[in-house]
Amino acid sequence: MSLNLDHVTLTYPDGDGRLTALDDVGLDVPAGSITAVVGPSGSGKSSLLAVAATLITPDSGRVVVDGVDTAGLSRTELTTLRRSRIGIVFQQPNLLPSLTAVEQLQVMAHLDGRSPRAARPRALELLDAVGLRDRAGSRPHQLSGGQRQRVNIARALMNDPVVLLVDEPTSALDHERGAAVIDLITELTHRRATATVLVTHDRTHLTAVDQVAEVHDGRLRVPARA
Ligand code: ADP
Ligand code: MG
Repeated sequence: MSLNLDHVTLTYPDGDGRLTALDDVGLDVPAGSITAVVGPSGSGKSSLLAVAATLITPDSGRVVVDGVDTAGLSRTELTTLRRSRIGIVFQQPNLLPSLTAVEQLQVMAHLDGRSPRAARPRALELLDAVGLRDRAGSRPHQLSGGQRQRVNIARALMNDPVVLLVDEPTSALDHERGAAVIDLITELTHRRATATVLVTHDRTHLTAVDQVAEVHDGRLRVPARA
């Protein structure tokens, strides 16, 4: 139950050449722990998450999810792995406007080939875990930004992921609500034993994380703990 990146290099086409977005990156995230990834805009943080999420295949290196080397998997197998093992929280919640909070979560069960109706109790339990049990019937426009981000986090946990990847979840929130969202992610990481990567540009939230990795120009550095 963990996430490992080993010698991962990723380039994008850039004019006549290639731009190196990730340069020989190695990262180990054990189950039940949270690694923060910090770095300036354009340093490669979202690329790192996209590779860890198996949404982008790196030029070289290995991405191992829950002991499975993803390089050996077909496109279909990758989709299944993503739906069943990886929870992704993007910067913007991207909730479906016409669905209630509980339905946003039930859709995930449906995508994973399970009955949305049977998944309803679990969806309600997760909404409870993020403090939104009483908003289960609310649509996105009836929720605040912080509440929408909580639905987004609950949705990412719907299929019991091994790996939880979170990209700047607090960027649209004020400081207090941002801190509450980080606390929630930390608590859920420990309770559900996910291997969590949290990208953030705000270092003030990082007191509770297990390790902080810094990215500069695609190179990742994990300073040793004092
Ligand atoms: P961050 O999330 O830290 O802001 P990104 O991972 O989004 O950084 O981007 C890293 C670098 O890769 C940047 O120079 C960015 O312009 C470039 N980049 C990101 N996505 C693409 C893409 N799809 N095609 C080409 N270049 C990209
Ligand atoms: Mg980014």
